[in-house]
Amino acid sequence: MEKTKKLSLAAWIFIGLALGIAVGIMFTGNPDFANNYIKPFGTLFLNLIKFIVVPIVMFSIMTGVISMRDLHKVGSVGVKTIVYYMCTTSFAVAVGLLFANIFKGFFVQISTTGLEYTATEAPGFMETLVNIFPNNIIAPMSNATMLQVIVMALFFGFGTIMAGEKGEPFAKFIESANEVSMQIMATIIKLSPIGVFCLIVPVVATNGPSILGSLALVLLVAYIAYIAHAVLIYSLTLKGFAGISPLAFFKGMMPAIMMAFSSASSVGALPLNMECVEKLGARKDVASFVLPLGATINMDGTAIYQGLCAVFIATCYGIDLTLSQQLTIILTATLASIGTAGVPGAGMIMLAMVLQSVGLPIEGIAIVAGVDRIFDMGRTTVNITGDAACTLIVSKLEEKKDESK
Ligand code: ASP
Repeated sequence: MEKTKKLSLAAWIFIGLALGIAVGIMFTGNPDFANNYIKPFGTLFLNLIKFIVVPIVMFSIMTGVISMRDLHKVGSVGVKTIVYYMCTTSFAVAVGLLFANIFKGFFVQISTTGLEYTATEAPGFMETLVNIFPNNIIAPMSNATMLQVIVMALFFGFGTIMAGEKGEPFAKFIESANEVSMQIMATIIKLSPIGVFCLIVPVVATNGPSILGSLALVLLVAYIAYIAHAVLIYSLTLKGFAGISPLAFFKGMMPAIMMAFSSASSVGALPLNMECVEKLGARKDVASFVLPLGATINMDGTAIYQGLCAVFIATCYGIDLTLSQQLTIILTATLASIGTAGVPGAGMIMLAMVLQSVGLPIEGIAIVAGVDRIFDMGRTTVNITGDAACTLIVSKLEEKKDESK
């Protein structure tokens, strides 16, 4: 019963996506109707998701921490998660750089005269560090500053464990609040086929012609790199560390993948992603902790994109990046992708930080800005797939550890 239900949602989302692309093509060159009358419904759907995502992240991380009942266990899951996230992300930048270097000779040089792009100030490292810690409990929730929400949830989770018996009523309340939020989320998820349709139509209608422009090759290289990273790294680690069949993984992930692709938001795809990993066998306590964290800090697709675009923009300006510059890019793009919020377009803003680190002109972002959404759909898909892979692996490793005890 469960299985048919899941398949049918995935199928419906696929129908929404395919129909959306077809209708979008019909509106190509004349996107006004799509933008004025279809896009608002997509926005409405995204609003609903944004509305529920703060309670979901907040309560599910707290529930996850509390249900581990032991600070050491939280630490053990946390360390594995961070190690996996950091390693795969720096590898992802390297993949982006590698493909960019292979195809560099074919990149069409685009005129860079008169380009203007005012970078929204990308925060420095120390500032980012300080900004992780909230100074009150309301602002992170009202601004949906996910990293701060996570830190808050962790503190309250730890506090509940440390309070012992006195913390029990609070733990019960949080558990119940978590269940209530999940039910609301399940209702919103039912709307995703329509949501996906309304999100993709205006994207195709607006971007259709420009995809054929001079950026086609860069986009193609980006997608090759996205796919190579996802297929290679996630398959290998899933098989190697957790004995999970990559095919089953990608198949089970389809609903979340389609949602990420059409919404270009890791946070937006989080609710569906949770459903998918749990159906694939991830432990609930691990998933409720690792997945929201991943949707906030783990962005492999974004890292690939930033590495690739740095080389591409350099090429457009006739600059050849040295090896040490490329190593700097690996470091900064890893950090920049951590600082990237899981919302559409955020990766492009953080690209400024990467370009700056090696002295490339920030105006170069204007070259790729026009088709950013197309880059974004792919990178978000990779982002959330990486979160899911990590969740399943950590879940399996924890299971093995418990068994051996
Ligand atoms: N849109 C991406 C995400 O939500 C972030 C980015 O722009 O790279 O995962």
